Amino acid sequence: MATLAEPAIQFTRLPHPAPVAADVRAAVVADPGFGKIFTDHMVVIDWEEGKGWHNATIGPREAISLDPAAAVLHYAQEIFEGLKAYRLADDSMALFRPEANARRFNQSAERLAMPALPEDTFVEAIKQLVAADKDWFPEVEGGSLYLRPFMIATEAFLGVRPAKQYKFIVIASPAGNYFKSGAPAVSIWVSDYTRAAPGGTGAAKCGGNYAASLVPTAEAFARGHDQVLFLDAAEHRWIEELGGMNLFFAFDDGRLITPPLGGTILPGITRDSLITLARDEGLTVSEEPYSLDAWKADAESGKLIETFACGTAAVVTAVGTVADRNGTFTIGSGGPGQLTGKLKDRLVEIQRGSAPDPHGWVVKL
Ligand code: PMP
Repeated sequence: MATLAEPAIQFTRLPHPAPVAADVRAAVVADPGFGKIFTDHMVVIDWEEGKGWHNATIGPREAISLDPAAAVLHYAQEIFEGLKAYRLADDSMALFRPEANARRFNQSAERLAMPALPEDTFVEAIKQLVAADKDWFPEVEGGSLYLRPFMIATEAFLGVRPAKQYKFIVIASPAGNYFKSGAPAVSIWVSDYTRAAPGGTGAAKCGGNYAASLVPTAEAFARGHDQVLFLDAAEHRWIEELGGMNLFFAFDDGRLITPPLGGTILPGITRDSLITLARDEGLTVSEEPYSLDAWKADAESGKLIETFACGTAAVVTAVGTVADRNGTFTIGSGGPGQLTGKLKDRLVEIQRGSAPDPHGWVVKL
């Protein structure tokens, strides 16, 4: 039997008492860095058991009030997403595969026992915020407007069960240039800690996963490395992913390998896009387990020519060296390789509208 579609949610625009003055805004977005500056609007939609999603507003970005017993503060019932709005050559704004973020958001929601948000509502909320805050777009080369949709359990109740009230919120933050030309390859520390175990929450984008990654990441930094790498929980042998990026391994015979989505790694949207773009380039891409031992042996024999990490924030980043308690090895020359540069350029050109979009990934506003 066909089910009735939920009626499309209407957004109410709330008055903004004091938007940030244009000159102040221009000054702060001149060199925004990442995640430090926020635009002056936000979207909020409430959910309540029996009522569903309601009260969708776009209004001033401001502090939210929460009961000290709100479930999110105790049991971390929280999920989020991260995507960017880009400015195209014709000055219009565009999103990259926002429906993929909407889908992943609902997969995270399901794992954290939270209500699903209709995908079109997720995308519409983001479009509304970008339209309201497009003047916050940073005019730096490679700049973007980073969007952070998230959902929190707001019900005041200390029993351990799914909450009956939630808020979905979207905030935006101007982001600077991540891909200055000649960006160096990163150095990786292979962590002894485990990020995710089979049956756990590794494939969900929930805050708790990131809280648990702070100590391993701090350890990597303290040892002088740029990024942390996690291996599988059971054997501590198979490569999973970095703290916030997926990995690819390129071989001298045109093969490209990336670890499979077995429920313990985040299904990256950049990962998925690069699999498609690499196949377009004639490479043989396989999602298969790859071990730390094989990585080291293949790098030393010269069979493995490049390794790169990918994610929304840094797009595509070459891996130069890998260290664990047993020593260090170098990938290729230790600098960014040709394929890494080519795939990164292909993706960035599509995202920025300077190349055709054969897969229909760019959503213009
Ligand atoms: N892995 C983890 C753990 C991440 O946090 C991210 C960033 N969302 C990624 C991979 C890359 O995902 P995406 O390409 O969708 O940004």
